[in-house]
Amino acid sequence: MTEATKQKPRLVSGDTPTGRLHLGHWVGSVENRVQMQDDYDCYFLIANIQAFTTRMDKPAEVHQNVMELMMDYLAVGIDPKRSTIFLQSEIAAIAELTVFFSMFVPFPRVMRNPTIKDEIRDKGLGENYPFGFLLYPISQVADILAFLSQVVPVGEDQIPHMELTREVARRFNQLYCGVDPHTEDADYQKQGGLFPIVETKLGRTRRLIGTGAPGSDGNLLKMSKSLNNAIFLSDDPDTIKKKVMNMYTDPNRLKATDKGTVENNPLWVFHDTFNPDTAWIEEAKNRYREGAIGDVECKRCLIDVLVAIIEPIRQRRSQFEHDLHYVKKVLQEGTEKANVVAAKTLLLAKEAMKQRYF
Ligand code: ATP
Ligand code: MG
Repeated sequence: MTEATKQKPRLVSGDTPTGRLHLGHWVGSVENRVQMQDDYDCYFLIANIQAFTTRMDKPAEVHQNVMELMMDYLAVGIDPKRSTIFLQSEIAAIAELTVFFSMFVPFPRVMRNPTIKDEIRDKGLGENYPFGFLLYPISQVADILAFLSQVVPVGEDQIPHMELTREVARRFNQLYCGVDPHTEDADYQKQGGLFPIVETKLGRTRRLIGTGAPGSDGNLLKMSKSLNNAIFLSDDPDTIKKKVMNMYTDPNRLKATDKGTVENNPLWVFHDTFNPDTAWIEEAKNRYREGAIGDVECKRCLIDVLVAIIEPIRQRRSQFEHDLHYVKKVLQEGTEKANVVAAKTLLLAKEAMKQRYF
């Protein structure tokens, strides 16, 4: 590690290998990650244990998705020379810290977590979700604190998990490092605390919606790998065209001359998020409201916009698809490096908890 790397603040972020990266990941987190690589010592985690919370019966799929995510990371511009990509299941310190941290969190506190509630509803987990599913926010606390991370770029659904991370870090520092509970978050380490109180860095769009119809509560669902409503960063132009053409829009507008609603309409949410031509958007929205432009014309324009963003990523990705040996090597080297850092944190945590005996 160079002197320059040592001085950079740490950043941790990651994804569950439940599928490939989509546009929601890009605007929610990945765009920030790519941009922050120069100024932060970045650790990007592939949360394959977390994937088992909903996919324990599909191990081959999880395995395949780890490789898919790796290729996505390299294709969007995560640079292994500057950043470390690693696999959650190979970092024993994360599992050990998860067990210790689980003592810090009252069980009812986990059940009140709004993201957990949303996921149980939106992923149709019913009442038989595994105990490990409820443990994943605490495992995420360990993912972040194992690297003494100062900032985490994430989408809006992660805000409750970030708050939990701060609560655990504050309590740990107060209980075991003697930090005064009145200390400002930014000063915890200066006051002798082991863990920084992490900052949440939200993306330019905190929660991108998917291409499908609203959920059972009438709200548009977030774009998600698990909900079959995503446009992936690896989709070819034909697939993008099909997805946009089938996109949910204003259900009351049956023909181009009907007046349309722009608000809460995925077609316009996507234009607002991705189309740089704001003058066209404003004019087209007015015509849409008046029934003077068809859905198809607006969709064609959106297809061009999305293909222009995704196609260069897809083409870079196809090079890595032909060099899986390199892709695996990057993951292995990153995991080895991450293990050293996390193991050191675990020792310091045990020391603080007076549980280092030998
Ligand atoms: P899953 O459906 O398996 O939960 P996901 O699509 O929600 O998958 P995650 O791996 O859970 O993706 O999330 C990875 C990161 O991407 C998180 O920081 C999350 O907040 C962000 N993210 C995911 N979906 C969106 C979205 N639609 N808008 C903004 N950010 C998102
Ligand atoms: Mg998710």
